[in-house]
Amino acid sequence: MPAGAEAPNAGTRPLPVPEAAGSAASMLRFRCDEVGCVYESRSGAIHALQNVSFAAQGQEVVSIVGPSGCGKSTLLRIIAGLQPPTTGRVSFEWQGRAEPPRCGLVFQEAGVFPWKTVLDNLAFGLEMCAVPRAERVARAMEVAVRLGLNSFLYHYPRELSVGMRQRVDIGRAFVADAPLLLMDEPFGALDAQTRRVLQEELLAIWQASRKLVLFITHDIDEAVLLADRVIVLSGRPGMVLDEIQVPLTRPRDLSLDRSRIHEVTRHIWQLLEADVRRELSLPR
Ligand code: ADP
Ligand code: MG
Repeated sequence: MPAGAEAPNAGTRPLPVPEAAGSAASMLRFRCDEVGCVYESRSGAIHALQNVSFAAQGQEVVSIVGPSGCGKSTLLRIIAGLQPPTTGRVSFEWQGRAEPPRCGLVFQEAGVFPWKTVLDNLAFGLEMCAVPRAERVARAMEVAVRLGLNSFLYHYPRELSVGMRQRVDIGRAFVADAPLLLMDEPFGALDAQTRRVLQEELLAIWQASRKLVLFITHDIDEAVLLADRVIVLSGRPGMVLDEIQVPLTRPRDLSLDRSRIHEVTRHIWQLLEADVRRELSLPR
């Protein structure tokens, strides 16, 4: 399954037509209870995650930050239903039922369909929901304008830069309008300027759609600037070191005075520094 496609936890039943922006999303809750993951490898067991517990609900943006290799992607795949946890569980409450909603996925490596145009890539999630073509196109074009893709609607991914392909992937998740958006370092492969612009667009699109977003990053500033709450994971095995409420209101503007988040980012770095150095085998 390419990145950006629907998670299989919802793929076995007919997909509902997307909800109106922001409406039913407020009824979504999920929680991880003591989630652990151990991979068996030729060199022995790799303990990727241990006792990870946290919850999120409604229209929150929650970021997860932690050192490279601490199990962030593993955690996201478990939440998306793409792999089971070794221990613990993930539970959902969606529209009064104990089942996962549709979820949109965006990974670091843009997973666009090479044989589809930008427009058809953007509209893919709606196609899966049997939304009529005229409506698919209208919604895809709306998001294309926001993400600066409107001049490339009939181009194929091979004709786009890496940053543009990533925008298509992100756009597709937004067009599909799934109530839960899971993003795994979506800006990780982008240059700093493109990243900054896309962070701003993410804030703006979120403001209009109010989804529950789980956003993984290794960038502490990004974790704080985009989220309402930051979950800090330790080095492997990833364990929750802290959950921090971000002291910023919405709507949010990235040109804000960064001294307002200095205390929080410093605190997160203090939590992570020893583990990052240990991973790199560097002394403190
Ligand atoms: P992160 O996203 O934080 O960098 P990952 O979740 O990708 O971390 O990986 C956590 C650990 O689990 C790493 O040591 C990685 O090598 C290992 N790992 C990830 N996926 C697999 C797999 N399919 N098989 C074996 N080990 C894996
Ligand atoms: Mg990862």
